[in-house]
Amino acid sequence: METSAAQHLLADVNAKQPDLIQHFVQVVQAGDLSHAYLFSGSAGDGKLAVAKVTTMALFCLHPTKEGFPCGACNECLRIANDEHPDVLVIEPDGQSIKIEQVRALKREFSKSAVEGNQKVFIIDAADTMTVGAANSLLKVIEEPLATVTAFLLTTNYHHILPTIRSRTQLVEFPQIKQEALQRYLAEHNLSKTEIKLALQITKSTTELDQLIADQWLSKMKQQIEGWFTWISKDDVRAFPFVQTNLMPLIGDRFSQNVTVTMMCLIFQDVFNVKFRERTPEQLAFGDIYDLLKSTANQLSDYQIVSMINDILATAQLQRVNVGFQGILEVLTLKCLQSITSK
Ligand SMILES: [Zn+2]
Repeated sequence: METSAAQHLLADVNAKQPDLIQHFVQVVQAGDLSHAYLFSGSAGDGKLAVAKVTTMALFCLHPTKEGFPCGACNECLRIANDEHPDVLVIEPDGQSIKIEQVRALKREFSKSAVEGNQKVFIIDAADTMTVGAANSLLKVIEEPLATVTAFLLTTNYHHILPTIRSRTQLVEFPQIKQEALQRYLAEHNLSKTEIKLALQITKSTTELDQLIADQWLSKMKQQIEGWFTWISKDDVRAFPFVQTNLMPLIGDRFSQNVTVTMMCLIFQDVFNVKFRERTPEQLAFGDIYDLLKSTANQLSDYQIVSMINDILATAQLQRVNVGFQGILEVLTLKCLQSITSK
């Protein structure tokens, strides 16, 4: 069964900010929610998820005994899908949040005063508000309505106008712990080895989200292992493999960087197996331990280091914007050369 956006959000907050979300659902249950919060922390630490799940808790038709939203009722689903008429999420329009966006929000909320409906607005990247937008917003939060709650989210606390800071309750988001990241990835159905690989590539949850979208990491891991298999056999089929198997998975600059990183990691594994006697559990590509070991035995330390150097040089070429397929093909040829020259 496909998980809904609402269930995704619940899994996200429980993995990333379990203490904070517990606090907020209790506050909602007690009817103590403030008029305006300022969520401050690093990118991808679950600020938006905490704001949305807290909002779900506020509207949910069947909350749990502890105050958590059910994640299945019509209110929960509409909030999670950004389709709830009383919940507004504002994001930068281009580089900034503009005064027109805040004006539209104000019109929406002046209705609240008349209708008496509970309303919530969430402003993501609040630090990108133009001064005009920020001043316009200030008027809203200066005259709080009992039925309105605002969540302002920022990764740049110091870029928020002091007048806004002083009228909001600051919530500093803690750094996500390694175990929490592991739990988060496990909830997205990554295997143990995939989790280890993912965390060697990045610790940023925004980037981790990119890695796991559409099972990209699982697919790429398999292809990199395939590429390495041809290389280790000194088989020229490694060369066309770049075009047929790697390139279809590579799009933006991020996926290019990760591809090069994964190639580095696989040769680092070879190095670590040979010189540091690492076990499969300690490697990024532990699933192919036997192949790594046989390759390590077959290569000299000079060959291994020279392949890692070639890959690192690729990372530099990438910066000057040479076609990426060409880069990977040259790199593949170099690796094949290194393995042939015994
Ligand atoms: Zn619900």
